[in-house]
Amino acid sequence: MGLRYSVNLENVDVHTAPLLESSHSYRSHGRFSKPETAVTYACQYCLTHLTVSGMVLSDQYRGKTGDAFLVHNVVNVINGKKEFRQMTTGAYTVCDILCHQCHSVVGWKYLKSNEKDMKFKEGKYILEVNTICSLD
Ligand SMILES: [Zn+2]
Repeated sequence: MGLRYSVNLENVDVHTAPLLESSHSYRSHGRFSKPETAVTYACQYCLTHLTVSGMVLSDQYRGKTGDAFLVHNVVNVINGKKEFRQMTTGAYTVCDILCHQCHSVVGWKYLKSNEKDMKFKEGKYILEVNTICSLD
């Protein structure tokens, strides 16, 4: 297996993301406070780029391992097996997302929600804070 192409996040147009107004929807907490400038988030094991701070919709989520981000889009991941998962906010069809370089699980993707008011999560990603690191 050779080295696979990694998408360069600097070429991603973050302005196409439906960004929420930072003033009221984004409350910072913990060690991943909202940075003043754009930060790249990467797999903490192999530093493959996964997303940028402009893609983060919320940091108020909980993953399997602790704090997590809800993210508009990620790159350089492989989708795992589709599965049905019961969570505190309802039942979802999700698939784990794996770093395409080292295959560690970095979060999951919401494929489908059964709750009407949770539909906005469909197609969005959860990135587990414990599996990623930030690059300036
Ligand atoms: Zn990795």
